Amino acid sequence: MKDIWIIANWKSNKNISEALDWISQVGPKIPKQDNLKVVVCPTFSALSEVKKAITVGNFPLLVGAQDLSPFGIGAYTGEEPAELLNQLITLTILGHSERRQNFRESDETIAKKTQQALGNNITPLVCVQNEEIPVPEGCKLVAYEPIWAIGTGNPDTPENANVVAEKIKQQYSASIEVVYGGSVHSGNVKDLVMQENINGVLVGSASLDAEEFIKICQVVSE
Ligand code: PEP
Repeated sequence: MKDIWIIANWKSNKNISEALDWISQVGPKIPKQDNLKVVVCPTFSALSEVKKAITVGNFPLLVGAQDLSPFGIGAYTGEEPAELLNQLITLTILGHSERRQNFRESDETIAKKTQQALGNNITPLVCVQNEEIPVPEGCKLVAYEPIWAIGTGNPDTPENANVVAEKIKQQYSASIEVVYGGSVHSGNVKDLVMQENINGVLVGSASLDAEEFIKICQVVSE
């Protein structure tokens, strides 16, 4: 059975108490299935408390970040290095289109961040906006996220997402897992994850609502 990732990208949302409220609602309702990997990516400020709550509740939830430093430990004011984050997270989103647009992140910077993650036991989930954006060396988990589908309510079709995922695998390696992101919700997730080349979803807006996120997980596990 293929792995299915369901990854919640909270972006710059939820204070600690809102984050803990979400964990207490969602944690007990995540279906326990070996091939189902559910990840929550809060803000840096909520990571530690979220990690603690998941550990105490023994919930089948992994913790991820939304970014990390291209550098290691040292004089890099404001940056969060992989060497310190790895006590809290198992995955990090990298190269999201919002970072490429708002912070001018280049493919080169994203490649450096990928190496930092890989060298520190963190799975890099690299976002590409189409099959022409490079997948950094060593990256085994990619999110296909067309910009026009993010936060618009206008998702790509499952069939086209499958074609793009297949192209990415053909170009790099059949062992790469590709998830789809862009206006995913409980009503369209099943058709997406049923596609042969799609290994799950990256969910933005719909992940903020605990009940909707639980529905997404339940629909996928049925
Ligand atoms: C995202 O930003 O990664 C995303 C998929 O957002 P949304 O689900 O809101 O389209």
